[in-house]
This record gives sequence, structure tokens and C-alpha cells, in this order.
Amino acid sequence: MRLIIRQVDLKEIIKMTEKSDVEICGFLFGHRDGERIEVEEVRFVPNRLSGDAFEMEPLEMVRAIDEAEEKGLEVVGIFHSHLKCPPRPSGRDLRGMRLWPVVWLIVDEKGNYGAYVLEGDKIREVEVEVVGTE
Ligand SMILES: [Zn+2]
Repeated sequence: MRLIIRQVDLKEIIKMTEKSDVEICGFLFGHRDGERIEVEEVRFVPNRLSGDAFEMEPLEMVRAIDEAEEKGLEVVGIFHSHLKCPPRPSGRDLRGMRLWPVVWLIVDEKGNYGAYVLEGDKIREVEVEVVGTE
């Protein structure tokens, strides 16, 4: 499986992570074609939690999905940031991954990132291909 994301979009997520003192989160909208997942749009959704956790604001979450569907895009991933810990799924993330079985992109404030998907009960790392220039 491969996640294809534009450099400008990935940089935006990392920039927001650096600027925020809480975890940032949102959706990756796009298309999935077999093992190939292409991100067309990154949509930030407010985090209603603080500390080292995130939960998307439910109304904003629904609005984001509605707007994406109008454009013919589907939810292909969820992204969030980790502050002062590596960009790998936490126990809490694992529970979220069961609810949202899409690709989970995690970034940290140093610009590291990783993408993961839950297969059965195993977390599998997804290859990230960054495309385009600024
Ligand atoms: Zn997390």
C-alpha cells in the first residue's frame, strides 16, 4: 500500500504541528485505487481535546465529509500530530484505527512522519510518496 501526498500538503500539516501546542488533526480526502491511495485534499478539523490526545469536533467532522463527498472525494486517511513523541500509533490511536480503518498519517513537530493501517489486529506501515514541488 502506498500513500501519495503532495509536498505542499504534507508541509502544511507539519507547519500547523509546529505552531500548535495541542495535537492537530483532520482528514485526507482523495481516491483509493487498490493499493494506491492518492490524497487530493487535506482538511483540518478542530481538536476538541487537549494534551496528548485528539478527537475531531463532531460537527466540523460531518461538514468536512459532506463537502468532500460533494466534490466526489472519499475519506482515504486521517492525520494527526504527536508532540514530543515519535510519529507512531499510540494505544489510543489503535482504538481509533479500529473505528476508522483508513490510513493514519502521524507527524511530529520535527517534521518526521509515518503512515499506518490496521490489518486485522496488526499495524502495518504504509509507504508515503511525496510528490510535486512547492
Ligand atoms: Zn496519536
